[in-house]
Amino acid sequence: MKKIPQRTCVVCGNKIDKNKLIRIVKNNEDQIFYDKTGKANGRGAYICSNETCIESLEKSNVLNRTFKMEVNKEIKQKIKEDVVNGKR
Ligand SMILES: [Zn+2]
Repeated sequence: MKKIPQRTCVVCGNKIDKNKLIRIVKNNEDQIFYDKTGKANGRGAYICSNETCIESLEKSNVLNRTFKMEVNKEIKQKIKEDVVNGKR
């Protein structure tokens, strides 16, 4: 049996199968974005694909903590929009 790798959601802290999570990436230019392919270079963070976690990603400072930098509101909104649109 093949074991699916698990990652921790940075919002709720639950461990979930990697292929069910959404990957957010910070690249070398300190740009933060939704990594649709899951293969972008940079430091990755994972969140659940449920509404609660996506909402708190925008409203909380979890990305600031995860990437150790100030992530402004516009960037968080953009990520949320991309995630929501990408799911459809
Ligand atoms: Zn979560």
